[in-house]
Amino acid sequence: MRQTIRKALLIFSLLLFPVTLYYFSPALIINAAFDGIVNGSFIVFLLMLILSVPFGRLFCGYICPAGGLQECAFAVNKKSPKQGWKNYIKYVIWAIWIAAVIFCYCQKGKIIGVDFLYETNSGISVSDIHSYIIYYGIVMLIFIPSILFGKRVFCHYFCWMAPFMILGTKLRKLLHLPGLHIKIKNKGACISCGKCSQNCPMGISVSENIAKGKINSCECIQCGACIDACPKKVLSYGMKEGK
Ligand code: SF4
Ligand code: SF4
Repeated sequence: MRQTIRKALLIFSLLLFPVTLYYFSPALIINAAFDGIVNGSFIVFLLMLILSVPFGRLFCGYICPAGGLQECAFAVNKKSPKQGWKNYIKYVIWAIWIAAVIFCYCQKGKIIGVDFLYETNSGISVSDIHSYIIYYGIVMLIFIPSILFGKRVFCHYFCWMAPFMILGTKLRKLLHLPGLHIKIKNKGACISCGKCSQNCPMGISVSENIAKGKINSCECIQCGACIDACPKKVLSYGMKEGK
């Protein structure tokens, strides 16, 4: 039931993507910075960072339109992308982009206002042929790698939003604050069937993590698919680390 609701939320968010596109835009924040404006995507990225302290990457698992688009591609390619150095590509993209945003705000010298609907048509992102071309390009940029390389490959390697939430989660751990995570509540009941790993949309080897005693991957999007796939109820959501 939980996974049905989760997938329905992702599809709903995907259907809203023509409206919400500019609120996730890494380019629009640069335009806004040149004008000294705090725009919609600035506020959304800031909220992602703050909310990830208690909730980790819950946004990726339940709300992200790009996540919904990629999970639609599971019907074509269910391979798990390789973990390794390629996972760091997104951090390089993120660092260069954040440096560009800071530089642009510094160029302007001051923030002159807040405009959540900046460069949208009454809040709607895709409202003319120019924005439709951008929308279609972004959709292809997310969808084609998923078809070619497998499960949520865009999240793994390229997403500019993931590092905000990974940073928030790491900050929580550093400060020993409580926060949402996947808890191993009954390790002894595990029969090593591997269903948790097979059902993980992020291709995390959950059963290996269970053997090590902790599910600690920063690629975890808190989707709960591993919890729901386990026949022995080994896993659950938890808020307090280790509990
Ligand atoms: S480890 Fe579990 S909660 Fe995390 S992404 Fe994989 S299936 Fe989802
Ligand atoms: S699905 Fe449950 S029983 Fe099977 S390996 Fe994962 S935790 Fe163990």
